[in-house]
Amino acid sequence: MFISFDCPKCLKPARGEATAASRGVMCTDCGWTKPVVEGDVRDETPTRCLVCGCGDLWRQKDFSPKVGVTIVAIGVAISTWFMMQMQPEWSLGTLMAFALADMVMYAVMRDCLVCYRCHARYRGIPRLDQVAAFDLEVNERYRQEAIRLKQAESGKVI
Ligand SMILES: [Zn+2]
Ligand SMILES: [Zn+2]
Repeated sequence: MFISFDCPKCLKPARGEATAASRGVMCTDCGWTKPVVEGDVRDETPTRCLVCGCGDLWRQKDFSPKVGVTIVAIGVAISTWFMMQMQPEWSLGTLMAFALADMVMYAVMRDCLVCYRCHARYRGIPRLDQVAAFDLEVNERYRQEAIRLKQAESGKVI
C-alpha cells in the first residue's frame, strides 16, 4: 500500500510504501521512521494510522474534488461556445457528456483510507469494504483535539 502523509518531524509532505519487505513508514526528507508493528496491518489493511497511531480511519473516494470541478468547468465552457454558435443540441450534448465523464471517473476511482487525526492517506488497499465511511462526529472530535493541542502548545511557548 502507498501512504502519503505530512511528516510529523519536518512537517513536509512525504510519500511512502509499506510492503511486506519494508515494514515501516519513512520520511525521505529528514529520515523520520516509524516501524509497523504486529497488529497495525491486517489483510494488507491498516487497522490504525501507521503515521500517528490513531485508530480511526475513514474511507474516501480517491478523487480530487478539484479535478471534478475542472471537468465540469471545461464542459460548461465548450457548451457555452456551442450555444454562441447557435447549436443548442451540441451545447446540451457536451454538457451531458462531461457530466457523464465526471460520474464515470468518480465510479471507477478506487477508495483510499484517510486518518482522522493526521490526514495521512493510504492507497492500494485490496479490501476496504469493512471500513466505515466518513463520520462527521468522529471528525469533529479530532478537530477539537487538534485545537486543544494547538492551544496547549502555544501556551507552552508563552
Ligand atoms: Zn520528515
Ligand atoms: Zn494518522
